[in-house]
Amino acid sequence: SPEAPLLEVRGLRSRYGPIEVLHGVDLEVRLGELVAIVGANGAGKTTLLRTISGVQPASEGGIRFDGQDITRWPAHRIVGAGICQVPEGRQVFAPLSVEDNLRLGAYRRQRDRAWVEEELARIYELFPILAEKRREPAGTLSGGQQQMLAIGRALLGRPRLLLLDEPSMGLAPLLVEEIFRVVKRLHEEGVTVLLVEQNARAALGIADRGYVLETGRVAMAAPASALLEDEGVRRAYLGGH
Ligand code: ATP
Repeated sequence: SPEAPLLEVRGLRSRYGPIEVLHGVDLEVRLGELVAIVGANGAGKTTLLRTISGVQPASEGGIRFDGQDITRWPAHRIVGAGICQVPEGRQVFAPLSVEDNLRLGAYRRQRDRAWVEEELARIYELFPILAEKRREPAGTLSGGQQQMLAIGRALLGRPRLLLLDEPSMGLAPLLVEEIFRVVKRLHEEGVTVLLVEQNARAALGIADRGYVLETGRVAMAAPASALLEDEGVRRAYLGGH
């Protein structure tokens, strides 16, 4: 139905061996939304993304994407359905050029040369710095530029849902601002985004809705603006201001 969420997570549990890390998470993302998941270090944010993208098995509960039950699908099939994850810590291939790194994002449509060239042009328009450095080895880019490259590579697959894991991690404040500007722009262009962040203020500042994850449970779910004004959230995640 048109009102059904694009992504629907219900009662999701996930474990590492005997240790359960997600204790029944409910969450949804509608088409075109930018949803932020905030929470302390170790709350289970990364595990939640990894479980959605099929890298980590769900032990209980279900994940529906675009009306299909993808809970037990292997990761490659989930990518094929249009869910693309940019992992924490920007994994680019250092010796390859920036452009070759981007081309890897189009591996499923490599033969469609015209399409790949169009997509590259679109990414270079979004990230002019990548156009400038297209022939440089990715390893010579700054941390922020590598993060942009990782996002650009994910976008080249034209994902229907983009999962971003801590894009601001380890970046200087100015670069953090730039990354969030880019994510906001992607959202404005219609990309559906699920964003995991420890930088709660910045993430909620651009999100439509947010979830607060506390030790594997959703403690709060609300419009991002309401979370930004919530006294408990301010004290726990926004430095009390
Ligand atoms: P961070 O911001 O540090 O990534 P997070 O909210 O994303 O935190 P997770 O990385 O999902 O949290 O970790 C949740 C819990 O699971 C933590 O207690 C962590 O120690 C544990 N954990 C994560 N990965 C593994 C693993 N591969 N094996 C065992 N335990 C793990």
